[in-house]
Parts: sequence; C-alpha cells; structure tokens
Amino acid sequence: MNTLRWIFLLVGLAVAAFARSQEPSPTTKPDAPWSAEEARRLTALSSERPDLYLELGEELLETADSPERIELTRQLLVRAIEYGRSRTEYRRDAASAALALSSMSKRAGERRWLQAIAEALEPSSAYADASREQAREANREAARRASLFLTQLRSGEGIEARESLAAPGVRQVLQQHERELSASGRMSVQDLENESKKWPCTNCSGLGILVPGKGQKGPARICPVCGGQPGLKLSAPDLAAQLHLQRRLLGDNEDNWAAMIASGDAPPARDPEPAEVASAFLVDGRLSIWRDGQWISPLPKPTPEAP
Ligand SMILES: [Zn+2]
Repeated sequence: MNTLRWIFLLVGLAVAAFARSQEPSPTTKPDAPWSAEEARRLTALSSERPDLYLELGEELLETADSPERIELTRQLLVRAIEYGRSRTEYRRDAASAALALSSMSKRAGERRWLQAIAEALEPSSAYADASREQAREANREAARRASLFLTQLRSGEGIEARESLAAPGVRQVLQQHERELSASGRMSVQDLENESKKWPCTNCSGLGILVPGKGQKGPARICPVCGGQPGLKLSAPDLAAQLHLQRRLLGDNEDNWAAMIASGDAPPARDPEPAEVASAFLVDGRLSIWRDGQWISPLPKPTPEAP
C-alpha cells in the first residue's frame, strides 16, 4: 500500500517536472490575465494568513475564465489548505478551501476525497457548504444578469435593461468590473444607467424605422432620432472591452471546470489527509509568496559569494 503511494507520488513529480521543463520561462506577460487589483492582493499574501488565499481564491473562482486564472485559483485554494490545516483558528478556512477546490473538480472520486478532507478539518463544514454553494449560485446568476444588462443596453431594450440592473447583485457585479465597461475604463455604471433611460426610442418605439400609418403613402424611413440603430453606441475598442467582460462574466460554465484539476489518470483511493492535498495537486507549499507572476519562497535566496 505504502509502496503504491510512493509510486504514484514519484510518477506525479516526474510528470510535473516534465511539464515544467516544457513551459516557457515564467516572465510576466504584459497582458497579464489578472487585474492590477488582483496583482496587488496576490503580492500581499503571506502564509501567516491562509484566510486571504481563500478569499482571493473564492473570488477568482467566479471569473476563472482562462487556463491561467484557473491554475491561479487552484494554487490559491491549495495553499489556503496547506497553511490553514494545522492551525486551529484557520481550520475552517482550510475546510472551505477544500470544498471550493472540490467544486472545481469534475472527477467524482476527487470531489469526494476533498469533501472528506473538509469534513476532517471542520466537522460542521457540510452545513457551511450548502450556504456557500447557495451564495456561489447567486453570484453566478448576478454575473449572468449583468452580462444580459449590457446586451440589452446595446440593443436599446431600456426597460429590460433597467430590470436587469435592479436584480439582486447585478449593480455590485458591474461596479466591481467598472473599469472593464469600456476600453478607457472611464465608463461608469451610472453612465450606463443614464443611458438605459433613453431607451426604447420613443420616436420609433425601438423599431429603428418609421412606417407610414394606415392610409398614408410613402416608403418606410429610418428613424431620425436613433438613426435606425437603437441602443448604446460604442466605439470598436469599447465594444471589444464589453464583449470581453461579458465572456468573463459568463465564464464559469461547466466546460471551463473540466480543465481545472491537474490532468492525468484518476488518483488512487486516498485517506482524507489534509497534509497530502498540496502534493496531490503538485503545489509546492514552501513557495508561499507571489512575485511578478510566480510563486517564490519567502526566505531570501543565499547570494553567491563573489569569487
Ligand atoms: Zn428611433
């Protein structure tokens, strides 16, 4: 049994080493997949506060829409478990992280293993799990509705857009992403709300054209008020920014979760041992600090002596 475990561990490490050797050098890309605010919070992390890894990991879980963000979410949650598992005051955070991690997994065995770990860390976490899942579901719905709001606004459906904006959590979601509402980052939620009040076009009832009334002759005309195109007008860069944001808001669909957990063969049946999570997910817990797009050790590396 123990021998088998070692074999799995060694195979895992070999696969990880190979994968790492295939990666390009981890320099920071100019187009980083995280926002400046996220980068600031990442840089502030320290293993003394596992709850902060959890907090950021759970937020990223809502917008894990690229391989980089998915991997970062996974790294944060595994570290929240690793640093919180043996400290009484943070065991609940570690349990929550295990549940969040299990929600990312598509493999039933892995989900059960992580849920058992959460249960081992915090016996009451099963109850907390239900309310957390409810909160997550509410967030997903608010993000979906926020995306719908933008679509409605651009097509001149002002009444529907205002309904969407008034739905629970939608305004908060848009405010969180306010800088992504336009290319310049200067378009505010208030601007969009004001815009929504202009629609539908009262001149053409949102049709874009004016059709002659019964008994009247003449061709249909393009509505002079909305120019035939009801809705919020955006420049190409602004439209691209909004569409990008909408993809992020809708990003947490099932297909994205598929790639989340380290690929490979199904893991062997394991005891619910919190200390084994990091190695199972190929995360080096000694690297607790985030700098310039990678995890590093908090201890300063010994500088080589000048000859
Ligand atoms: Zn019109």
